Amino acid sequence: MDSRRDFIKKASLLAGAAVVSGNAGNISKFALNTMKKDKLVLSFRPYTLELKHVFTLATSSRTTTPVMLTEVRYGDLVGYGEASMPPYLGESHDSVAAFLSKVELGQFNDPFKLEEILDYVDSLSQGNPAAKASVDIAMHDLVGRLIGQPWYKIWGYDAEKTPNTSFTIGIDTPEVVKQKVKEAEEYKILKVKLGRDTDKEMIETIRSVTTKPICVDVNQGWKDKQFALDMIHWLKERGVVFVEQPMDKKDLDSNAWLTGKSPLPIIGDEAVQGVSDVVNAKGIYSGINIKLMKCGGMRNANKMINLAEGLSLKVMVGCMTETSCAISAAAHLTPKAEWADLDGALLISNDIYKGTTIVDGKIKIAEIPGIGIEKI
Ligand code: MG
Repeated sequence: MDSRRDFIKKASLLAGAAVVSGNAGNISKFALNTMKKDKLVLSFRPYTLELKHVFTLATSSRTTTPVMLTEVRYGDLVGYGEASMPPYLGESHDSVAAFLSKVELGQFNDPFKLEEILDYVDSLSQGNPAAKASVDIAMHDLVGRLIGQPWYKIWGYDAEKTPNTSFTIGIDTPEVVKQKVKEAEEYKILKVKLGRDTDKEMIETIRSVTTKPICVDVNQGWKDKQFALDMIHWLKERGVVFVEQPMDKKDLDSNAWLTGKSPLPIIGDEAVQGVSDVVNAKGIYSGINIKLMKCGGMRNANKMINLAEGLSLKVMVGCMTETSCAISAAAHLTPKAEWADLDGALLISNDIYKGTTIVDGKIKIAEIPGIGIEKI
């Protein structure tokens, strides 16, 4: 015991000496910041993302997305987070503000107790996954900054293994769709929202201007399983690589039947919200679409990836419309994903962060500690 105390004493003296001698390395910063025993301070402010194009799903259209921007301060360091609240998911500026007002991070003075802190945040309510994600992301950013490393490294993932991101081509008139495909020249894989009576026209319009692989998201829009299977065969012949949430998430039998017969992977999105849904997806879908705003943040998303790997489910990492804050946070998980759909920040005109970028269609994580972002 004595020798252990001696060791700790010597180690802290050494760390202190490094600070005094002006060594600006990560260890000294780490020691300096953890010795302070500051309290964690959470702050937040609402923001509205402006979309470059009207965004049309099978059931709705819109031009803005409300988000909440969070910061967790610890001494001189700040971690950044974000909640994105597309209206169809039920969270809003008001609901997220109400949730965050209840979060008392000031009771914690050791940010490395991430599990304890995030368990506490999770215990405050049943739902509110985006609100919870905004705290989770800010805490991860802070801890990464304290350690001086980006999260993909802390998790042991290989940044070279990030996939290409798909780029969403919204539903529109044939002329506008062709124009959007031209604007998406940099991206290697296109994503199309289907689930309307114009589905075949949409695919044929894209095929008239490009041979790039396409992934399809039906957002539960197909109502008949045989129709869905026929469509999937038709789509496969036209270079589609997978189909996301073809039918109602509650219709387990039809989705399972389709996955059993489909020549393309079927990915569950609306059906797979959080960690507990991953096991249930086995046998119903070929893979799952993980999003920070559905599952409550990076901690749960990483758990879902590990669970999916154990269950031989394919993994896709997706997003909502988000700034480069939440997109960059999600990017750290993508070395473990077969596909990524992280175009959320590319679709807005008023981003306030820079971080993860897309280079030749591929996700490039910024070499910045934490989630890898800076304010613009
Ligand atoms: Mg989807």
